[in-house]
Amino acid sequence: MMQALDGLWDKICENVRRGISPDAFQRWFAPARLVETGEDTLTLAVPNSIQQLWIESNYATLLQDAIILTLGDRRAVKFRVEMTAPVISRVPETAGGGVGSVGSDLFDVRGSGGAGSEAGRGVAVSAGSRAAGTAGSVGSVGSVGSASTLGEGTGGFNARYVFENFVVGSSNQFAHAAALAVAENPARIYNPLFIHGGVGLGKTHLMQAIGHHIVAHRKKARVIYISSEQFTNEFIDAIQQGTLPKFRRRYRQADVLLIDDVQFFAGKERSQDEFFHTFNALFDGHRQIVMTSDRPPSEMQKLEARLVSRFEWGIAAEMQVPDVETRTAILRKKMAQLQVTLPDDVVRFLAERISNNVRRLEGSLMRLASFVSLSREKLTQPRVEELLRDLLQEDARNQVTIDKIQRVVAEHYDVRLADMTSKRRPACIAFPRQVAMALARDLTRASYSEIGAAFGGRDHGTVMHACKLITARTAEDPKIRSVIMLLESRLKA
Ligand code: ADP
Ligand code: MG
Repeated sequence: MMQALDGLWDKICENVRRGISPDAFQRWFAPARLVETGEDTLTLAVPNSIQQLWIESNYATLLQDAIILTLGDRRAVKFRVEMTAPVISRVPETAGGGVGSVGSDLFDVRGSGGAGSEAGRGVAVSAGSRAAGTAGSVGSVGSVGSASTLGEGTGGFNARYVFENFVVGSSNQFAHAAALAVAENPARIYNPLFIHGGVGLGKTHLMQAIGHHIVAHRKKARVIYISSEQFTNEFIDAIQQGTLPKFRRRYRQADVLLIDDVQFFAGKERSQDEFFHTFNALFDGHRQIVMTSDRPPSEMQKLEARLVSRFEWGIAAEMQVPDVETRTAILRKKMAQLQVTLPDDVVRFLAERISNNVRRLEGSLMRLASFVSLSREKLTQPRVEELLRDLLQEDARNQVTIDKIQRVVAEHYDVRLADMTSKRRPACIAFPRQVAMALARDLTRASYSEIGAAFGGRDHGTVMHACKLITARTAEDPKIRSVIMLLESRLKA
């Protein structure tokens, strides 16, 4: 039996090798073993959690492709951490920890959703797989996993996405409170709950935390988590296979429907229509509905008005980019879970520089942690920058903050940074300030009022005026145009 598994793993590895450098293969795949195969699952034993996290977050798609090549269809990949060697510098064991729980702790620190889940495909790790040897909430989540076909495609339920692992800061306080209220009183207070905000800010985490909480406290609750993309795919399959009644029964009998990324419904009329009826059935039956989206209901284009209006029946909670303190707290929490310690200056550097996406923040931490555990080299600033070059660049590219705009503009015009927010009005200061406001409008998602607030409490009208003025001046004066272009390129660099 073992031999058969080894043989199968060798074949999969042959295919993995096609898409990865020999070094990386040696480092990440060579230490893994195939220890179990189920009808639609494979279980890999890896020597430590970093190994698992790394494979999940960087090679999910590659591994899945190799599995498909070898076996002809996809399998959900589960991991079992078998501690064979000390791997990472440990922090003292936390209460209730102990060696016995290492497996489940490691489980809790699964990678950043993985390349797979973001792309809506790839390796699915079902919550149930983590339940081995642990009692309590994880186990019961496992039962959710099996109650519905979670874990297919989009990653399904993630055991790590619980309230305990969620760091609350001003950016997500409201969404967190609303989610907790829903978890404690499903279908009573806020229905539907609509959580919206940018990529990687914790929407899926909060949504699944609701599911975990409900399952832990109400054993019989039928909780379904699905992305709207997967809902759409299943709907299409059901039409083609003539199994619509079954499909409808499944979703309309849920006690709690968690439906992720509903912006995907935009422009898909039949799926929208189907979801509309599902929504009504659940709502009328006093079942809880939770949705997430990358934008608020009112800004969902190509979505039927009747659906938008339903989304607005309950409560909408926005998640914003966490501030630097919250980012630091998130890093500290993840380090404790990963049982790694990075030097304070490195933590500070990460929190400051990787600012607009928590998923990326986690990815950076994992990268550094695995570097430390594997090379045992000391982390120096240049090494950190080298290891994270792509992530840092990406963050800088996507991230133009009002702060940064003010800094760059003040520097260019040689005025004090304080003048960006001061009440002083001489033209030599007012003009750069207006330029900065206009850039803020163009390069960030901030509204006129938010920009006004960031420029020393000015009102919405002042900012609008500044934007109009700069647009006009840019159009008529090539010199100003080139300055603006220069500033823009500096900001995006
Ligand atoms: P979204 O669905 O908004 O794109 P996710 O919920 O997938 O984002 O979050 C991305 C990653 O960041 C997840 O691993 C999640 O656990 C983590 N994360 C986001 N916000 C927080 C937070 N406030 N505390 C702890 N982890 C967080
Ligand atoms: Mg998400």
